[in-house]
Amino acid sequence: MGYDTIILGLGTFGIAAAAELAARGERVLGLEQFGIPNARGSHHGHSRVFRTAYFEHADYVPLLRRAHERWVEMDRRVGGGVYFETGALYAGPRGCVTVEGAMKSARTHGLEAQRLESAEVKRRYPQFALPEGFEAIHEARAGFLVPEVAVSAYARAAMGSGAELRGHEAVIGWSADDKGVRVRTARGEYEAGNLIITAGAWAGKVIADLGVQLRITRQVMAWYWPRVPELFEMPGHLVWAIENERGQLHYGFPMQRGASPGPGLKIALHEPGAVVDPDTVDRSAVMVGVGVGADDEEQTRGALRRYVPQGDGPLLSMAVCLYANSPDGHLIIDRHPRHPNVAIACGSSGHGFKFAPVFGEILADLAMHGGTVHRAGFLGLGRFGK
Ligand SMILES: Cc1cc2nc3c(=O)[nH]c(=O)nc-3n(C[C@H](O)[C@H](O)[C@H](O)COP(=O)(O)OP(=O)(O)OC[C@H]3O[C@@H](n4cnc5c(N)ncnc54)[C@H](O)[C@@H]3O)c2cc1C
Repeated sequence: MGYDTIILGLGTFGIAAAAELAARGERVLGLEQFGIPNARGSHHGHSRVFRTAYFEHADYVPLLRRAHERWVEMDRRVGGGVYFETGALYAGPRGCVTVEGAMKSARTHGLEAQRLESAEVKRRYPQFALPEGFEAIHEARAGFLVPEVAVSAYARAAMGSGAELRGHEAVIGWSADDKGVRVRTARGEYEAGNLIITAGAWAGKVIADLGVQLRITRQVMAWYWPRVPELFEMPGHLVWAIENERGQLHYGFPMQRGASPGPGLKIALHEPGAVVDPDTVDRSAVMVGVGVGADDEEQTRGALRRYVPQGDGPLLSMAVCLYANSPDGHLIIDRHPRHPNVAIACGSSGHGFKFAPVFGEILADLAMHGGTVHRAGFLGLGRFGK
């Protein structure tokens, strides 16, 4: 058998698993249909929120504590540029899920968070304008990750530990039995003891036999040049998320320096967009600013105007990214119900990046031992009756 484990898809979760398995001395082959990293799946756009006070399910918090340790460790190892712990401000109408949920989670798990009245927000963060009746909290252990830098760092670490990673080699078929797994690409056929499927927006196609519906949606990110740029630089500006009266979450990041992220203040809407097919969604036109519908801009411009008026300057760029939404909005990580030597992570529903290091560990555990010490059962396929 050529390899211990083959990994199908080297985006967020796949590349983390590759690095983890290789560090544990496993023989790894990783296959990616595009580049490593790439801007066609779910891991581009130069920033991803990291927060700890999850209210979506209590069992996320221990996973996030572990993820935080690993992100800090990676950031230190590569000399910075992976994780920026800016803290985060969450706000919304009094009693809203975002603020109350995060506060409750912080209390339950002993996390550092502070409730702030509107007047206090205005004093500390003049870049925001909270409408009457809004409340806010500040979470300390929060910030943002730079996905392209993190994926590249994982790739280097994986290859440094002996993993074989191949870009632009799409998997076109796979099979598994109790002797092992076989994976087919246009270049050849490979065998291994285990397979890890981390195909992101394509997972629904790769594991269609599972019968779990993943809804792929088109998400727009936008960058603006603020009216008062100094207010949005680091240190000072922070990650933020504001829930509107319809329960939708607008969020944004501080400006980053350097050529790769490009200039500007990034803002987006955390709400599933139009349902698309990842193979036919048109990203190129949007990337150069042609063919972007007025609604795309309004999605972010409206929130900027209302909540971050000092940021409401000219539009610089927009980009399209894909959410792979699971039926209940929670991530999925488990063994394939009919093939114990196949592990799967998918359906991250627009909030999975922050979990990459701990998902790497869980996937490595599943491939090597068939189980994991992490409490991730709530993310298993059993909840869909599989
Ligand atoms: C606009 C936007 C904002 C987001 N914001 C946040 C945030 O603030 N915080 C957060 O934690 N998360 C956030 N997310 C979610 C997070 O980025 C995703 O949950 C995460 O990147 C998903 O990882 P993945 O490994 O499933 O997918 P990906 O990173 O897309 O990796 C899947 C890879 O598999 C490859 N692949 C698929 N099929 C094949 C095949 N047949 N053969 C070979 N390769 C294949 C793909 O090309 C791709 O590279 C956001 C996502 C988007 C789109």
